[in-house]
Amino acid sequence: MTVDNPVSRSAPYQLNNVTVPTPSAQVETLTPSAAANLASFHAYLRSSKRILALVGAGLSASSGLPTFRGTGGLWRNHDAMELATPEAFSNDPSLVWQFYSARREAALRAIPNKAHYALAELARRMPEFLTLTQNVDGLSTRANHPPNQLLHLHGSLFSLKCTSFYCDFQQENNFTHPLTPELAIASEMSALYAHIPQSGLPHCPKCRTGLLRPGVVWFGEALPWRVVKTADDFISAGKVDLILVIGTSGTVYPAAGYVDRIRMQGGKVAVFNIDVDDNESEDSFWEADSSDSYANRTKWTFEGDAAEWVPLALEPLTGPVEVQETGNGERSSLF
Ligand SMILES: [Zn+2]
Repeated sequence: MTVDNPVSRSAPYQLNNVTVPTPSAQVETLTPSAAANLASFHAYLRSSKRILALVGAGLSASSGLPTFRGTGGLWRNHDAMELATPEAFSNDPSLVWQFYSARREAALRAIPNKAHYALAELARRMPEFLTLTQNVDGLSTRANHPPNQLLHLHGSLFSLKCTSFYCDFQQENNFTHPLTPELAIASEMSALYAHIPQSGLPHCPKCRTGLLRPGVVWFGEALPWRVVKTADDFISAGKVDLILVIGTSGTVYPAAGYVDRIRMQGGKVAVFNIDVDDNESEDSFWEADSSDSYANRTKWTFEGDAAEWVPLALEPLTGPVEVQETGNGERSSLF
């Protein structure tokens, strides 16, 4: 597969009809209170030893990817949420595999943004840093995030599992696309839907009879216990100084649960999101923070494009971060 239509990097970004300032504009136009907010965060960041990042859909959106989950989005007139269930796969594996093949292709066409690279760099520099991502797009992996510091709460489009009850085959980071020649038709959005017989769908290389399925967590399925336990163990192993809530709200599940636990330990929270909801904005701090005193802050909010704010916020620990994967460059090795 060749990539002839990489995601446009032209600025300003357009997300959900909200125009987000470009990074240079952000830096140059920081208001005094925004600059003080950033400086206050930097001071605390430098003293932090253990950090957890919780990453959500907003970071994928910054790379131009629709996420489908919970949005009521349509794929070829099918409700995407209804395709993301074990029942749908059991009833029509051809349809569900075509949906996921199209999503794999969209994810492969997108490129990791600066926040993905900043988090990966932080992981290399800080052993006690863990990223827990709800995104299934593989962008953190492609930004070379160290795998032992990256947990996929909802699985990955690029993981495969055998559906045979008697087989335990699982594979991670399979970036082959399409997985079978027959699945190439799923890429052609204008093509009429064509049923693919089971023989044309991905099969298990181990047992050779089982159908493979995408290694994502479908609606009605439990979160992977190993992932949840690893995150729990990290939080239990000692005080987490800081939780970074990126591309999702810090007031909804599951972020809210992690935020609460870390705040109860005495840790602090920083929220990076396109919309910071009223409950987490600085105005509603229940702590005794006054607007002219940043030293005792326990929470920071950075409203706007997380792909721009996160590298800026982490720069004291990571240094300047560059996007390493561009257009048709090294990413072609993925195919
Ligand atoms: Zn198998």
